[in-house]
Amino acid sequence: MLLRGIGTSGMATGYAYVVRNISADTTYSKGTPEEELQAVARAMDKTRNHLQTLSATSDIFAAHAEMVDDPMLLQTIEGYIQDDALSAPDAIDATSEALQVVFREMDDEYLRARADDVKDICIQLRNNVLSLSQHQYEDLMPGSILVADELLPSDTSYLDFSALSGIVTAKGNRTSHVCIIANNKGVPSVVGVNDCMHSINTGDYILLDAGRGYVYVNPDEETRRQFESELTAHNESSAVAEAHAYEKAVTMSGKAVPVMGNAGDIDDVKAALAAGADGIGLFRSEFLFMDKTSLPDEDTQYQAYLEAAKLCGDKPLTIRLLDIGGDKCPSYIHLEKEDNPFLGMRGIRFLLAHKDIFKTQLKAILRASVSGDIRIMLPFVSDAGEIDDTLALMAVCRQELTETGTGFNPDVKIGIMIETPAAVLAAAILAEKVAFFSIGTNDLTQYVMAADRNDGLVRNYYNVSHPAVMRAIKLVTEEAHVRGITISICGEAASDVMLTQQLLQNGADALSVNATAVARVKAHIREM
Ligand code: PEP
Ligand code: MG
Repeated sequence: MLLRGIGTSGMATGYAYVVRNISADTTYSKGTPEEELQAVARAMDKTRNHLQTLSATSDIFAAHAEMVDDPMLLQTIEGYIQDDALSAPDAIDATSEALQVVFREMDDEYLRARADDVKDICIQLRNNVLSLSQHQYEDLMPGSILVADELLPSDTSYLDFSALSGIVTAKGNRTSHVCIIANNKGVPSVVGVNDCMHSINTGDYILLDAGRGYVYVNPDEETRRQFESELTAHNESSAVAEAHAYEKAVTMSGKAVPVMGNAGDIDDVKAALAAGADGIGLFRSEFLFMDKTSLPDEDTQYQAYLEAAKLCGDKPLTIRLLDIGGDKCPSYIHLEKEDNPFLGMRGIRFLLAHKDIFKTQLKAILRASVSGDIRIMLPFVSDAGEIDDTLALMAVCRQELTETGTGFNPDVKIGIMIETPAAVLAAAILAEKVAFFSIGTNDLTQYVMAADRNDGLVRNYYNVSHPAVMRAIKLVTEEAHVRGITISICGEAASDVMLTQQLLQNGADALSVNATAVARVKAHIREM
């Protein structure tokens, strides 16, 4: 059987370990209401202690630890035990459902996002009442493929990624926490596999082709043989490619093509550089904001950019300004509800509407710019005025830094992402204003093809190699070259060796790829 979802990269084989809802097969003998309340109190202590221990690793756990003590949580559970005579686990389940509904119906985006936190905390409470906390993964055999409906941030603290060959989930998208973490750890994952919980059982043999988003369940002999030989070839060619990963990628006709890395945090920067990247072509700065409980201040951001710059040394570090909106919104930032958030207050539009947040980020980057080859990139540009407004704000930031005697690089390069059809069609005008372009094929594809990048139903329409997308890329590279500015590609397409030749033929000067793809893409370029 072949199931499909949204994959990251890599291939794996292994036996499935399916994490099912524990309630289905757990017997629990209910005590008196007092005993049930005591069980809840013990579970709360245990959950709080565990979360407090984890809080050093992420602000999410610190916030969850605080939420355990929210009186509304305890009062609702108590109500179900005392008024409805439910057992502790059932009362926690009922509370979870009820509070999630309350939160999801709220107008405020921040509060709506709390529904997932309630769900996560209630699962932990319930498991602790049933004494089923961490041990749900204890019998996970090394090399297993973990299959779950959904993995929550707290799950990742129990999971030993080194014991996993792969991950399959029914929910989630490529920007969900688990997907990002798994990708960083080199564990291939396929998410959004709607029917995986019905179609896969523990012990089933799985072939995971994350690059294509394919999950084969108990494949026939022929499919298995073919996949395993592809996997062997994949591993062998990876080993050969890795041996030359630190060398430049030069085509047979002598054109050097920088292959840089994409990063969302410092660990990704390290991973990309260790994999041989010629710099960082896309530092998705919004991920510095995602797992926090409040806006990181200028110093916190400065430290992160400084560390990344120092790691890069004399290699370029391209920091993309905060790209929130669409499907990316830190829970503490209030966004107006929009019918079409992907066509709404996203990227540079959000920043220009929130000048305080924008200035803080610009100043932090400018301060770090004395310590490396930092470049600034604007996300989701659709109009030249956005560049003008950003440059004007940057002038204010420079002025303020000068007044306080704070150093910065006055010549820091400014570039833009090309992700909208408007940016493609206005490329000639935009190219007059900036030093570089980088094409974000993930978004460009969805906007050119009118196909939501996270919607499995229109997967076949979301086609990066469609002639319309390739034509758009060619148009942009031509305009960039006429005006003498460099152009790179930093969407997922850049990591796909099947597209390398086409992207370079269409005029890309450089590529920015996932750490795991650096060596392969370089090897491919050398064969061109
Ligand atoms: C893109 O759109 O291709 C891109 C690189 O940006 P993101 O995937 O972060 O939207
Ligand atoms: Mg994008």
